[in-house]
Amino acid sequence: MFVRTRLLQRCLAHNVPLGCRSMHLLRDNAYVNGKWVSASSKQTFPICNPVDNGVIASIPDMNIADAQSAIDAAAKAFESFSKTTAKERSDLLRKWYNLMVEHSEDLACILTKENGKSLAESRAEIKYGNSFVEWFAEEARRIDGEVLQAPAANRELLLWRQPVGVAALITPWNFPHAMITRKAGAAIAAGCTCVVKPSEDTPLTALALADLAEKAGFPTGIFNVLTTSVTNSAAVGKELCENPKVRVLSFTGSTAVGKILYRQCATTMKRLGLELGGNAPYIVFKSADVDLAVNSAMASKFRNTGQTCVSANRFFVEADIFDEFVEMFVEKIKKDIKMGDGSKEGITHGPLIKKSQLDMVDGLVKEAVQKGAKVHCGGAPLPDLGPLFYAPTVLTGVTRDAQIYNKEIFGPVAVINKFSNEEDVLKQANDTPVGLAGYFFSQDISQIFRVARKLEVGMVGVNEGLISCAEAAFGGVKESGLGREGSKHGVEDFLDIKYVCIGNLKR
Ligand code: ADP
Repeated sequence: MFVRTRLLQRCLAHNVPLGCRSMHLLRDNAYVNGKWVSASSKQTFPICNPVDNGVIASIPDMNIADAQSAIDAAAKAFESFSKTTAKERSDLLRKWYNLMVEHSEDLACILTKENGKSLAESRAEIKYGNSFVEWFAEEARRIDGEVLQAPAANRELLLWRQPVGVAALITPWNFPHAMITRKAGAAIAAGCTCVVKPSEDTPLTALALADLAEKAGFPTGIFNVLTTSVTNSAAVGKELCENPKVRVLSFTGSTAVGKILYRQCATTMKRLGLELGGNAPYIVFKSADVDLAVNSAMASKFRNTGQTCVSANRFFVEADIFDEFVEMFVEKIKKDIKMGDGSKEGITHGPLIKKSQLDMVDGLVKEAVQKGAKVHCGGAPLPDLGPLFYAPTVLTGVTRDAQIYNKEIFGPVAVINKFSNEEDVLKQANDTPVGLAGYFFSQDISQIFRVARKLEVGMVGVNEGLISCAEAAFGGVKESGLGREGSKHGVEDFLDIKYVCIGNLKR
């Protein structure tokens, strides 16, 4: 109780607006085996608000031994949880979902404080994240097996779909709520137990979700949250990959870390779901509704201040409408984007998450400009707003040897390239080792089908810049990862198929 009061006082000192003052879900311990615990080493680390680097809370810095305890708890819990009925798991998820809806505003406030995105964006994420728990509460009851046609008259052949076991879920900072619910909802629906390792930058939302899981009456050990600083993340991650009691790893994050985890999981032949980086093309053909393409580009590029793996990363605009598009886009950015402390009224966009991100974005822009790119707006940090703000930026004339031309920018910078025919632009769009999302704008129905088929990505938005929802399968091709999340396919990572042959039956 004392700890919670102290935390609340810190929030009040942080100018959090009235709506954010009831942060009852702010916890500063990890959650393992149904208990709120500190690290075995008693070490803690600070979680900072990216708006001003103020400390929000100090939380346990857990190590390999703590990870092993959480895995053991989840493995023990699996023994009984795997025997629950689909209806029981569905009811549990439904209770969790209802509590998430009830506490949406609390969750959004915590999210804004630790991630920096505006309250409006946090509210949207909470709604989106909650929808996965609702979806998987419904899907739980449709995880059916199959009865096959046997080749022999005295046999019955069955396929059962059974939970694989303990699921390790490693999640990033850009969607601290939705990346957990999308994985945990599916894992629990399937009958798996979870050990969640949230990002070191945004673990408070994960702890708030554990608080609600506890309130929903989750059995002990079903949902565990390990908090780790950057110092311990890799070691704890390695344990989650190599511990034989963990049977599936689901990871969302960078391609570089995804490759490390892929290798580490080989030792125990784990099931793997990997949602990795993207480099989304955003193509505007001359037949497009340019107004629509500009409006959609705003959300697709600048949501979460450009820090999403499905963000439009490379704009390609057909020569005939190039100048018009750039002019309208720049105008709209100047009119619609208001950067600042996301918890304040009227702020649309927050800072970047940390200094390494800011330096990376700033370095990419500087290099592009040095190589001849033209800056239409922005082009520099905004230190008057806080240490991690970067101005919304539009660049044209970026040369192909500039790093920004082909790198996932993860910041509020739009690089707009000109093209003159469909074949060429498809070649450029596909000329990347990753393939997560891709967007294009066209009103030519033949072109729509042609281009949608040829884009080498896992998800295509046609005349749409935001396409994710619980009903759809989220995932990439090439080096963007393995598997799909959401949709009816989202549970597959957490299920094994068992073939049962019942022979020598008397007819
Ligand atoms: P980002 O670039 O978006 O921060 P990362 O891939 O670095 O993405 O981080 C995503 C998640 O992966 C975070 O939870 C982070 O702690 C975790 N992580 C980072 N490095 C490792 C590693 N070597 N092993 C396991 N997890 C890691």
